[in-house]
Amino acid sequence: MGKLDGRVVIVTGAARGQGEQEARLFREEGARVVVADVLDDQGEDLAKELDARYVHLDVGREADWTAAVAATKEAYGKVDGLVNNAGILRFNALLDTPLEEFMQVVQVNQVGCFLGIKTVAPHIAAAGGGTIVNTASYTAVTGMAAVGTYAATKHAILGLTRVAALELAGRHIRVNAMCPGAIDTPMSNPSRLDPSADVEEMAEALDGLYRKLVPLGRIGQPREVARLALFLSCEDSSYITGQPFVIDGGWLAGVSLI
Ligand code: NAD
Repeated sequence: MGKLDGRVVIVTGAARGQGEQEARLFREEGARVVVADVLDDQGEDLAKELDARYVHLDVGREADWTAAVAATKEAYGKVDGLVNNAGILRFNALLDTPLEEFMQVVQVNQVGCFLGIKTVAPHIAAAGGGTIVNTASYTAVTGMAAVGTYAATKHAILGLTRVAALELAGRHIRVNAMCPGAIDTPMSNPSRLDPSADVEEMAEALDGLYRKLVPLGRIGQPREVARLALFLSCEDSSYITGQPFVIDGGWLAGVSLI
């Protein structure tokens, strides 16, 4: 018996990184999965490997959401789970951030999450209820210099999560958020996307950094975040809604002077 037997879940940004691991783990646990992304080749390949369905979904575009839900229902008859995982990161001091860049990040991270809830929740309700998991960040609950735009959108995702939990509980939909710290994906380690880069060398450098910053002494793995997404999407979390879950190796616990 899988923890998600009989469920149908859309995972956004699922072509790589944390979303890919969520799609893999959810399939292992019995869910029918819709891999949604803008990276069509990678998404198609993953969907083929997992016996899943791929849809092209730019989370900032409402028409794409409508089409993605229609494709999901056509393939699997219903949708009763959503993982809003897609996100982008830009580094800039606030005073140097062009408005265009700010709005680009808002459109993907914040509007994307809003449109996901707005479009998919009525269909989850029609299926008798289910779950929504939003991907916020460590920077949703504390500040971090040079990622102000990103942090603003991730704080906003926690607001959306709490309000959606209140408004959707009566329709049997639980809504929670994950707040990952540093996780080893192309977002935190862009050398993973550069064929000429020494990925191991970069990973070691990052590991050295996180050994100092993170009490557990290492960067997190996307599979560890996928396990949290699974917990929040299955019956193990049946009495939990509206909450942010920090998964950061203890980074947020404080600073150590020793
Ligand atoms: P990643 O860059 O490897 O993956 C992000 C995925 O989102 C990619 O497949 C990308 O194509 C997709 N995406 C980007 N824009 C999109 C759009 N408009 N529509 C649909 N898909 C789109 O990064 P990741 O680390 O796997 O990130 C997953 C989530 O976790 C993001 O929301 C990110 O902000 C969050 N997060 C990551 C970290 C980290 O350290 N890696 C920490 C905290 C939170």
